Amino acid sequence: MELQNLKGVGEATAKKLAILGVTSLSDLLQFYPRRYDDYSVITKIAALKPGAVSIEATIKQITGRYVRRGMHITEAVVSDETGSARLVWFNQPYRANATKVNQPYFISGTFEISRGRPVITNPAMERASDFPVNAARIIPIYRETKGLKSSTIRKIMAAMKASIEAMPENLPESVIASNKLIPRSSAVSAMHFPASLDDLEEARRRLGFEEVFGLSLASVLNKREAAQEKTHIIPFDDVLAKNFVQALPFTLTDAQRSVSWKILQDMQNDMPMNRMVEGDVGSGKTVVAALAAVMAIKHGYQVALMAPTELLARQHAETIYKLLTPVDMQDQVALLTGSTKPKDRTALYNAIASGKSKFIVGTHALITDKVDMHNLGLVIVDEQHRFGVEQRKALQKKAGGRMPHVLSMTATPIPRTLALTLYGELDISIIAQKPSNRLPIITEIISPNSRAQLYAKIDTELDSGRQMFVVCPLISESETVKALSAEKVYEQLSTKHFKNRKVGLLHGKMKPDEKESIMNSFARGELDILVSTTVIEVGVDVPNATVMMVEGAERFGLAQMHQLRGRVGRGEHQGYCYLIMSDSKEPSRRLRALESSTDGFKLSELDLEIRGPGAIYGQSQSGQLDLRVAKLTDVHLIESARNAAVAFVDGGEALANYPALAAHVAQYRSITNLN
Ligand code: ADP
Ligand code: MG
Repeated sequence: MELQNLKGVGEATAKKLAILGVTSLSDLLQFYPRRYDDYSVITKIAALKPGAVSIEATIKQITGRYVRRGMHITEAVVSDETGSARLVWFNQPYRANATKVNQPYFISGTFEISRGRPVITNPAMERASDFPVNAARIIPIYRETKGLKSSTIRKIMAAMKASIEAMPENLPESVIASNKLIPRSSAVSAMHFPASLDDLEEARRRLGFEEVFGLSLASVLNKREAAQEKTHIIPFDDVLAKNFVQALPFTLTDAQRSVSWKILQDMQNDMPMNRMVEGDVGSGKTVVAALAAVMAIKHGYQVALMAPTELLARQHAETIYKLLTPVDMQDQVALLTGSTKPKDRTALYNAIASGKSKFIVGTHALITDKVDMHNLGLVIVDEQHRFGVEQRKALQKKAGGRMPHVLSMTATPIPRTLALTLYGELDISIIAQKPSNRLPIITEIISPNSRAQLYAKIDTELDSGRQMFVVCPLISESETVKALSAEKVYEQLSTKHFKNRKVGLLHGKMKPDEKESIMNSFARGELDILVSTTVIEVGVDVPNATVMMVEGAERFGLAQMHQLRGRVGRGEHQGYCYLIMSDSKEPSRRLRALESSTDGFKLSELDLEIRGPGAIYGQSQSGQLDLRVAKLTDVHLIESARNAAVAFVDGGEALANYPALAAHVAQYRSITNLN
């Protein structure tokens, strides 16, 4: 049914609803209030106390008048059997005519004593009835848009009451019973017409449970399906492991050791590994992945390493080349990206097909590339958290029908609740420790008028041979967004304060080889300062860079800034991160959090709290996830829904018996790249 044909909606209102993202009947029913004002308790007039109140009273008298141009006052006297009270409305000239004297009304508003006289100002008022809409109840406050007020939405909902109460159940009876949930119709009904705050709590629990249950089912089913697969066993070769580890220029941390051990064990199993390694920036994930890779190569398998950008793919290829040299596998490394020239590409394809190259480094596009990887034993994915069903199938096809072992690596710590819900199909290992030579990065929020002092400090660093990153929110000046651009900052720094330094510019619109040459000169120490956009966000590794200056810091997300900060302090030198604000306002909670903590886990929990779940998935995915009620910080809810999902799958009942739920689950199962 079209929304505009609903009672009380019409074409104009339907358009307004669309602005709020409500385009179907089901959207409308699930358009839950933002918050509630509790006006449910009706008080006798004689007992009124200052504050939010509701009364049921008869209008004795009501009159309106202009006290001056543009200022209209309506005054009324109302009474119940205990006494009378005065009501005042400003600029509501229609009030007096729309009100019937000697009739009972519900009146809700703020009661106060003004100049010794009790009064309720601008109250909501409607004829007393069994189903109050805008007064004398727990009043839902909806998200509004210009021309569509909460009060109108309440009326639309009131007209929908029967449809809401007839909504079908979508959860299995057993799940409802064992988790003591209320029926779906009662829950949705209570969201729009709560009889009590307890009701509302129950409704939220039920609807939040439903959301998390769906997500958890998806991850449980994905995991069970993956466990059916058989793959290559990659035995552990202790001589090789020893040689590899002994040749490293550092000793592995205990955390790196134990995670490596887990991975090597996974690969000795014929069930495909699906493990995610979480480790804060700089915790040393690459070497862990490389150790797994040499094991696979040793036994004749191909390894694919996929990075989110070409820049990172190149860097990885170089790092891997160095790491593999002592075990004499460096010639097996091949870099294949979108900008590989056709001639080189053919040669690469041949080298890979003949087994000469076994370690293929590229972007996520490797999956769809024509390269022959039928003997693929291990896939390493950098900075993509999870493959959806479709991607897993593509990977399997690429590997000649066998699901390879998959290792993903991420520097974005995932709060435990989220890990359970969304990543339940993954085994997760955490590198909770950084190499011991690292000093915690010193972070400071800088207001724009302290630039001079800041530049002096930076000069000291640069004088002692260190390097600096400067990250800007935009590539070039924009008319619509007032923020510093990389081009502008580059121009300023290289012609003014830092004119005697070597300054480079890097941004996403440059050609890949241009980017590469700039990045390389920075890495070789030929540039002192690199001005860029967030292209350097993930993974870039230049241990001699110690200063990260973030321009327009308030424009970046918390997780993103934490990533940026991770670009410095990667060697033995002290790292500094300066968050430059574009004005001298109070710093936001985000910036202050960053200043006070370098713990990625703590920051991600905080990010979740500040921005809500949407923060984690990025814009495009938050809609897909459809979490309207569940709070991902509600550990109890999430654990119980997760357990219920496991129990349901173990129970063996077909999901297809619940078509609405099945449709949701299918959608969740294919969601990918949640970062
Ligand atoms: P990330 O986890 O952010 O991907 P990298 O793997 O890029 O981190 O490692 C960051 C830097 O730390 C690299 O220069 C790497 O060589 C170095 N590194 C890795 N492990 C250790 C270790 N155990 N001790 C000292 N340095 C290490
Ligand atoms: Mg990395």
